[in-house]
Formats: sequence, structure tokens, C-alpha cells
Amino acid sequence: MKAICWHGPRDVRLDRVPDPTILDPGDAIVRVTATAICGSDLHLFDGVMPTMKTGDVLGHEAMGEVVEVGSAVTRLRKGDRVVVPFVIACGSCFFCKRGEHTGCDVSNPNAHIARELMGHSPAGLFGYSHMMGGFWGGQAQYLRVPFAEVGPVKIESGLRDEQVLFLSDIFPTGYFAAELCGIERGDTVAVWGCGPVGQMAIRSAWMLGAGRVVAIDRVPERLRMAEAGKAETINFEETRVYEQLMDLTRGRGPDRCIDAVGCEAHGLGSVDALMDKVKAAMMLTTDRAYVLREAIMCCRKFGTVSISGVYVGAVDKLPIGPAMNKGLTFRMGQTPVQRYLQPLLAKIEAGEFDPSFVVTHRLPLEQGPEAYKMFRDKQDGCIKVVLRP
Ligand code: NAD
Ligand code: ZN
Repeated sequence: MKAICWHGPRDVRLDRVPDPTILDPGDAIVRVTATAICGSDLHLFDGVMPTMKTGDVLGHEAMGEVVEVGSAVTRLRKGDRVVVPFVIACGSCFFCKRGEHTGCDVSNPNAHIARELMGHSPAGLFGYSHMMGGFWGGQAQYLRVPFAEVGPVKIESGLRDEQVLFLSDIFPTGYFAAELCGIERGDTVAVWGCGPVGQMAIRSAWMLGAGRVVAIDRVPERLRMAEAGKAETINFEETRVYEQLMDLTRGRGPDRCIDAVGCEAHGLGSVDALMDKVKAAMMLTTDRAYVLREAIMCCRKFGTVSISGVYVGAVDKLPIGPAMNKGLTFRMGQTPVQRYLQPLLAKIEAGEFDPSFVVTHRLPLEQGPEAYKMFRDKQDGCIKVVLRP
């Protein structure tokens, strides 16, 4: 089959690789009809995520048609149309039973590597390095889905691929980020980053009762899309974010702050310099929490900071003193997508929300390498790319 494969920093290619096969009775094979590139893929593309190997198939946002199931799979059958969450979870361990699927203790065969590098054992993730299990991803013609009894959500209505595809990650992620904030009716919510995750967080903040949403970025098209989502916007290249947020909130600061940027934040020099730092520090210390620091400084006393942006690295220099003095609450995490599949699908089916607004580019799988560059460099107004194998 054809697949988008990792060959090193800033080097992804369209390769021919063997078709996946059923390796475990709990597996399903999905013929991918639509798959997207995520901001998280950029950490792989930029080469800051360790334990990638040449030839790894990328991608963790995919959907398609079930073409084969293992003998233990009873919930799915050939021909079913499914969206596959980016998290691989067993469904029955301590964490899965609590709906904390990204903590699954069973699905990641390489959890010991992650423990050594990061001090904890995350669930398996599709297309996201060997310490996350080394599973091949969905930017390909076919995808092997382990624990298929637990993950994929069936789409039985006539919704288009683009309306449901983002259940795989960014819609639940934006929603989770907003939910973690504990928004109270009328709150002012500030969202750093107007990438796909930030866009979903803005809309979710409204769903959860925000009275006002302020979005921060520097890319004009992304700020415009945030405005279309009824957010007030701040261009961090034109204004000082702290002063502007204080002006907007009469000096108090936003009640809830969402970091939808993570370690690729602009403001600390080039990515290459950052990569050197990460390498030099052997994954132990990074100095890249620019947005998080700003969120801590801006958030009102006793407010909440929620983090969906990914930080690669184990220790970061954070202003814990101001955070403690302000009585802030922090909540964060890789999204336990499984928990949100049914409730968010219900919102889409009821016509309350259509996540497809975020798509700016549709390309064949073959153009994956160009698509990565375009999305990374925010060329041609690119906000979200959907690839069609
Ligand atoms: P993206 O790279 O398209 O978006 C990031 C945005 O942040 C860009 O628009 C960029 O211009 C903006 N930005 C950069 N520096 C900034 C600054 N100083 N202030 C404000 N904005 C700034 O990526 P995305 O797909 O939207 O993903 C965002 C983050 O969420 C990534 O770190 C990704 O890894 C993470 N993510 C987490 C989960 C999860 O489960 N928690 C899931 C998906 C993605
Ligand atoms: Zn993603």
C-alpha cells in the first residue's frame, strides 16, 4: 500500500509498504477514506520527538471502511464505516475503566521506553513513535486498529467524512481543553493558538458557557477563522498579549486560559535552536513553555489554566512561584478520546456543530509530503489538510 513515512527531521515521503494484516484477534483493518495532518505530527516532522525510526508510517487522525476483523471483534463487521480515535486503549484496565484512556496500562508494548524517557507509561498512539508503541499510522491506504472492540466509533448516518473525521482527535481535544477549564457561565476564556485545536477549543468554550472568548495567534487567516467563531482576537506580533488581556478584563485577567500551542511556540527563537536545546539536555530539560508562562502570568487569581498543547521533554522551567501565589488550577492531558466519541458525535448528528469548517485543503495521499510543509509553514492559508488515500 501507499503510506506517508518518516525519514528524519523535515523529511516525510510517500512510500510503498506492506499492507497491514490482522496480528491479534482484537484487530480490525480499515481502508482509509480520509486522514488528516495534526499539529502533533509537526513534533515528529520537526524531529523533536524521540524514538522515531526511518520508515515509520505517520498519522493518527483517520477514518474509513472496515475490511477485515479479528476473531475476537464482535462490535464491528466488514463494511462498517468508522472513525478511529488516535488513542489505542484496552478498555478494561484501571485507567480505561475510569475513562482515562490515554493512561491505558495495556495498549503500549513499549511503555517501559517511555517510562525511562519521560518517567511514566502512556497508552499506545497511532503513528506516534516507538515509545508510544510503534504502531503504524493512518496516513496510508490501510490501517491496522488494535483493540478494535474499544476504539472505533461507527458512523451510521449520512454525514460526510469531513464532518466526522475530527472526532479522531481535534474536536475531542478542543472540547477536553475547554472542559478541563471548568468554565462557569459568563467566564472570559483566553485561547492561545488558533490552529485546528485552538479553533475547536474556541467553539467548545462557547458550548460550555463562556461569556467571552479571546483568541491569540499571529497568522491572519487563523485569526479570521477565530473571529468567525465569535472570538475577539489578539495578534501577538502586533500587541503585547499581557497588556491587551488586562485591558480587555479591566486588569483582572481571563478566568480560564487554554494553551493550544505547546512546545512549538514562537517567541523563543527558531525551532532549530530549540531542537539543539532538547538534544543537548537529553530530553530532561526544555525551555520552551513560552505560551504556558504567558498563560500563567495572564490568568486571573484563582483561575484555571488548561493545557492541550504538547510539550516534548520531561522538565520545563515554569514560573511556579506566581502560579502558587495566584492560586491557579492546572489541568491538562492527552485527550482520552474514547470518552467523547458518542457525546460529540451526537452533537454533530443533531446539527449543533459541524467541525468541517476547519478544513482549508484537500489533497490526495500522494501529496502528503507537500502538505506537511504547507501546514508546518502555514503557507497558502493552510489551517487543516485532509488527505484522501
Ligand atoms: P498548529 O501548529 O497548527 O497550531 C498552533 C498555533 O499556535 C499556530 O497557529 C501558531 O501560529 C500558534 N502560536 C505559536 N506561537 C504562539 C504564541 N506565542 N502565542 C499564541 N499562538 C501561538 O497545531 P494544532 O493542530 O492546532 O495543535 C496545537 C497543539 O495541540 C500541538 O502542540 C499539538 O501537539 C497539540 N495536540 C494535543 C492533543 C492532546 O491530546 N492534548 C491532541 C492534538 C494536538
Ligand atoms: Zn492529532
